[in-house]
Amino acid sequence: MHFLRERTARFYLAAALCAAAIVALSLFSSRLANLPTGPDGEEVLRVSTGAFTTSLDQVLKAEGIDDAGRYRLSKALAASLDLRRLRPQDTYAISFSTWGSVVSLSVTRDLKDYLLVPETGGGYEVSVRQVEIKSSAARAAGAIKSSLWESMSAAGVPPAVILDYADIFSWSVDFLTEVRDGDRWALAWEYRTDPSGKVVSQAVSAAVYDGAETGRKTAAAHAGGYYDEKGDSLRSMFLRAPLHYRRISSYFSNRRFHPVLKYFRPHQGIDYAAPSGTPVSAVADGTVTFAGWKGGNGRLVILRHGSGYESTYGHLSRFGKGARRGRRVSQGDVIGYVGSSGLSSGPHLDFRVKLNGTPLNFLKMKYRSTGTVSGSARAAVAASIAALEAAVQK
Ligand SMILES: [Zn+2]
Repeated sequence: MHFLRERTARFYLAAALCAAAIVALSLFSSRLANLPTGPDGEEVLRVSTGAFTTSLDQVLKAEGIDDAGRYRLSKALAASLDLRRLRPQDTYAISFSTWGSVVSLSVTRDLKDYLLVPETGGGYEVSVRQVEIKSSAARAAGAIKSSLWESMSAAGVPPAVILDYADIFSWSVDFLTEVRDGDRWALAWEYRTDPSGKVVSQAVSAAVYDGAETGRKTAAAHAGGYYDEKGDSLRSMFLRAPLHYRRISSYFSNRRFHPVLKYFRPHQGIDYAAPSGTPVSAVADGTVTFAGWKGGNGRLVILRHGSGYESTYGHLSRFGKGARRGRRVSQGDVIGYVGSSGLSSGPHLDFRVKLNGTPLNFLKMKYRSTGTVSGSARAAVAASIAALEAAVQK
């Protein structure tokens, strides 16, 4: 096998010579590395990608680009992009030639791609184009076990979509207190991704909740709003509860999210047992008529709404920013935080609604839709809900 050994030896020698040549070339080229070489079809040897957790200058420096090279790249890019505004969600891709020079620098921010390529003469040509967005659809369904959050998370529904789902039904279902084990849920959503696979937007297209306590609720997107299968808008004058799912989940996101709460009815209102500090939302648009201390109610907020309605929120630990007498508040605004001020045995929200001074059973109040669609729009909404239900019953 002498022959083979000789060939192997020759091969190694050739390889060593090649490697030496490459090292020599790269040593040589590293001196030129950061000089633009002109758009004459260089091969790309290496692409470096990442996110802007630091400045563009630091990124380029870490890639070994010298002062003059960094200056030229930054200056060229700054003409069309404010470099101080680059954030970790913005990304870059730098490609280097076999000679180590920058063949292109691409920065992606706000769905725009800024591409720099060297020009003859030492400068860079910048082109800006819209990032290509891909649309996709997804569906999920399941039964409640413990809470909406846990059940949907376990089925792979992204957190943002769970919150959107809760928002869509927030006028008719209180997902904090009215969810029961075995309730069925289903939803279809659309999402758009950029070329890196990052989700840039998502929206629920159809949703169903069928619960022991809530009955069957349906929704489908149409013209920026949501409608049930009869074509009625899901929006109503009152939110189903003063403890709003989205507000609470964002409040507890860094602590512990306890989405199962309870309510009690010891009087003509409702007591919501919730941890101290839980945000309390205005159930309807209105005006603050009282925000202060009132005997056994402790810290109390009273809102006046249209048509003779009034809502009150007692035992608060503190007030929300907009909770000042005379101020307007919007439905869902945080007007205070759960506490146990006044005569209270533990943290809870004392919530009451009155109509022309007479206490109402808020939980039994008739749900009133704020609008309807008819004709082809209604048919489309109904078809979208039917398609979801058919798909998840398989
Ligand atoms: Zn009470």
